[in-house]
Amino acid sequence: MSLTSDKRERPIVVVGGGFAGASFALAAAGQETPVLVVEAIAPGGGDGGFDARSTALSWGTRRIFESLGVWDDLGAAPCPILRIEVSDRGHLGGVSFDHGEQGQEALGYVVENHVLGGALREKVAASEHIDLLAPANLTSAGPVPEGMKLSIRRGENEQDLIAALTVLADGGRSPIAAQLGIGRQLKSYEQHALVANVALEKSHRNIAYERFTEHGPLALLPLPTVEGVHRASLVWTLPEPLALENMELGEAELLPRLQREFGPGMGRVTGIGRRACFPLQLSRASEQARPGLALLGNAAHTLHPVAGQGFNLALRDCMALAGVVREARERGLWPGDMSVLQGYIDEQEFDQEKTILFTDLLVNLFSGKNAAKAGFRRLGLLALDLLPPMRRRFVSNAMGLGSF
Ligand SMILES: Cc1cc2nc3c(=O)[nH]c(=O)nc-3n(C[C@H](O)[C@H](O)[C@H](O)COP(=O)(O)OP(=O)(O)OC[C@H]3O[C@@H](n4cnc5c(N)ncnc54)[C@H](O)[C@@H]3O)c2cc1C
Repeated sequence: MSLTSDKRERPIVVVGGGFAGASFALAAAGQETPVLVVEAIAPGGGDGGFDARSTALSWGTRRIFESLGVWDDLGAAPCPILRIEVSDRGHLGGVSFDHGEQGQEALGYVVENHVLGGALREKVAASEHIDLLAPANLTSAGPVPEGMKLSIRRGENEQDLIAALTVLADGGRSPIAAQLGIGRQLKSYEQHALVANVALEKSHRNIAYERFTEHGPLALLPLPTVEGVHRASLVWTLPEPLALENMELGEAELLPRLQREFGPGMGRVTGIGRRACFPLQLSRASEQARPGLALLGNAAHTLHPVAGQGFNLALRDCMALAGVVREARERGLWPGDMSVLQGYIDEQEFDQEKTILFTDLLVNLFSGKNAAKAGFRRLGLLALDLLPPMRRRFVSNAMGLGSF
């Protein structure tokens, strides 16, 4: 589409059509609330900007995607997690959780990023209430009395428009937030995540494995079998030098290393696909809302992937922001009004705090070989195994259903 003059004033502009931006647009857009999504990557180009990663979706996320009409579009792509097995390398025992004890058909699902990203983008492109401008870049933003003045570049053309509410969902680096003077609180975990799809000799039986090692947590998430190949998604957390070393190793040297860390539980790993490596940090924007502006997804907070909570939390944020924006329209308020945005902050503050705390605690407790930590770790696993109320709360939280 082109930015014609009659469209230079927009109620809502979303910057970034990744998981967070696309989900928010779908949740917020309606007859009375048209949304413009500005996305740097062209639709249908390569993998659409989504890498070889997969994302664990909680049961709560499934329910949200059902309400947005996205779940059905994913078809058979999400692989159900029927059981989670947690273990501590070098120690016997561990703890496991089964979907049966929760009374749900699955504890969660694993979906490949390019599949989820593609489905979200298609839904956005098909919506009659959303205009998708891609490839296009937001190059600058500045406050004006009506909201935010945005400069958007598309090819050789640069155009300005005014948005009553600008939603920055432009990822963890968010240069636009930096340009607006919004800082970030950063905590490096001094770990990298090596991510790849792996082939397994035998079926994973829909079990997700989480194993804590002296280097950091290691997760193997079940993926659908393709052409007879049993597949899983690997997230291998390591100190930076070891992660970079493992990125360079040939498959013949790498697989025995991986197998040693994982043990024999899930059978033999027979192959590994394209690898990617991500530095891990907890990063939080110093402000998530200003008059005419809100931050969502990684732009608002980036979490360690150990508990698979980053996007699940971001999606709950998206729904909450969309909810207050809808309510504001009914009350005749501007969506960028600070009283509206403060309502969103108040609603999500507790969820964000507890999810971030829970994830950070897991990383700290389950990384490193310190004897005291190892003792706490074993106690924690034992408590989860033996204490039903604690177990229920833990799983409910991991499923995105309840709170501590
Ligand atoms: C290894 C790893 C494993 C993970 N596993 C899980 C998991 O199992 N479960 C889970 O819930 N979460 C997981 N996460 C977190 C999850 O990946 C993130 O929460 C999610 O990707 C955030 O998406 P986003 O839309 O905020 O950002 P991004 O995916 O970074 O999207 C930002 C978008 O904005 C666009 N953009 C940027 N700047 C501009 C601009 N100026 N103009 C226009 N467009 C722009 C980009 O092209 C991009 O499409 C994991 C993260 C990592 C690193």
